[in-house]
Amino acid sequence: MKKMTNAGDMAEIKPDPSIITPLLAWYDENKRILPWREDKDPYKIWVSEIMLQQTRVAAVMPYYERFLRALPDVGSLAAAEEEKLLKLWEGLGYYNRVRNMQKAARTVMEEHGGQFPPSYDLLLRLPGIGEYTAGAVASIAFGKCAPAVDGNVLRILTRLTADRSDVLDAKTKKKYAEYLARVLPKDRPGDVNQAMMELGATVCIPNGQPKCGSCPWQDRCLAHQQDLTDEIPHKKKKNARKIEKKTVLLIRDDKYTLIRKRPEGGLLGGMYEYPMLEGWVSSTQAKSFAAELGFVPLSIKKTDSDIFIFTHKEWHMQGYLVKVADTMPEAGDESKGPVLPVGYRLILPGQIDKDYALPSALKAFREML
Ligand code: SF4
Repeated sequence: MKKMTNAGDMAEIKPDPSIITPLLAWYDENKRILPWREDKDPYKIWVSEIMLQQTRVAAVMPYYERFLRALPDVGSLAAAEEEKLLKLWEGLGYYNRVRNMQKAARTVMEEHGGQFPPSYDLLLRLPGIGEYTAGAVASIAFGKCAPAVDGNVLRILTRLTADRSDVLDAKTKKKYAEYLARVLPKDRPGDVNQAMMELGATVCIPNGQPKCGSCPWQDRCLAHQQDLTDEIPHKKKKNARKIEKKTVLLIRDDKYTLIRKRPEGGLLGGMYEYPMLEGWVSSTQAKSFAAELGFVPLSIKKTDSDIFIFTHKEWHMQGYLVKVADTMPEAGDESKGPVLPVGYRLILPGQIDKDYALPSALKAFREML
């Protein structure tokens, strides 16, 4: 019968400092060369850690390089225009992260003289910096013994200890932060945190079978020994995501397309979108919407539909391409076009890529134009 540790068995998980030596030896031999590892610049480490939340290293790399080229230090991030910032973040999703980064950068400039505070507690007070990021920056950039526990680390450590605690439960995270705090070595805490990130990305991987044959812990990992890697990490089933139906309207004449700014705050706040109506509306309702804005609809055609999945909800989108008469203004002369509500704009095809950040959720509709 399979032996396992039950949820909540805190007493049975004893921190084991002997895991560190083989882990660091493996890391020294196998670590990937990554641009944010070249020096211990807290700005670079912080940017990479925020980008790497929910995105793999290979996918992040071009975004990271573009971001660092445009905003090479905390001062330039603090001073950046919001639209430039959103544009640089386009494709990574979770736009509140980059907004919070800018708030944090401004705090660093105003309250810390342009230098990141070298302490876990002070880093934690910066906007958008949670326990994981504060631990990563404090340990990697400043050599502090601060744990950095994310989903990867929880997967590895619960497998190591054959612990079936729910890894989505904050108590489990706290338990392993305490575990790590007791085993992090004073001389290389940042390397241990990075070694675990690396192990989680390349060996004890999130999807698919772990590559236990290449793991520095194969002779001590209880999940491996007890054939429990399919069952650990354990995640309690979450409530189903809420489904929202939307109708996306691609309203355009021969030259211009209509977009509008989403309200500040809330999901995708301040980004641009093609106008969207709640629910799946009829073609008559879609044409009426265009007419009420002052356009003269000529034809209407259903587009392909698309689904976009956020953390807590799904957008199930249908769309219409509404061709309207040439009542659009010449560029820069809005007096000749319909009087549009605040936030609406008529743009030329290339502008959506160049000047306006469109959420990934609507990318499929951009392709249909
Ligand atoms: Fe993960 Fe296998 Fe290593 Fe255990 S031995 S930590 S399951 S890769």
